[in-house]
Amino acid sequence: MGKRVFVAAGHSRVAPGLVTPEFREFDVNYEALQIFVKRFQHAGFEVFVPDESIYQLPYPQYLTRRIEMVNDLHAQAPLDLAIDIHHNFSPSPRTNGIWLIYGSQRVGQLAEQMERFLKELNHTVRAMSLSELGRSLGFIKRTTPPALIVECGFLTGAVDKLIIRFARGLLYNAIADAVIHAL
Ligand SMILES: [Zn+2]
Repeated sequence: MGKRVFVAAGHSRVAPGLVTPEFREFDVNYEALQIFVKRFQHAGFEVFVPDESIYQLPYPQYLTRRIEMVNDLHAQAPLDLAIDIHHNFSPSPRTNGIWLIYGSQRVGQLAEQMERFLKELNHTVRAMSLSELGRSLGFIKRTTPPALIVECGFLTGAVDKLIIRFARGLLYNAIADAVIHAL
């Protein structure tokens, strides 16, 4: 049977997350979302996305609203996975790579499978638990289904900036493939 998956672009148009001279995080999150949705539908997943109005909300409403949406969907029929898409920040341009952030052990196994898949494609990638990260993230802590935060790359990283500028379609397709492969 097709997997039931929720996926959203992190942040919103009015609170776009990280802004660098080259990128607005929300814009690239949203672009990645379009690719994820297309790939997941093609794989036969039942895909749920928030309605567009969520992306007009400020923080923390956009987060609260998507958490409610995920929990409502999961109550109707179990979701296999809920994903929030982001891009990362570091003060060092030498920090690059995809981060897959999870809370439960079950999603940890999925994240590790995704990590292996993406490593075979030569991506720099780390599966990371919330405790390793040392931060509490609402999308993981307050949602009931298995939840994963995908940080597609560092908008501040010397290598990732090039990938995100010139080859982000390839990057987002590879991450979507990793999800499909692992689920
Ligand atoms: Zn973010």
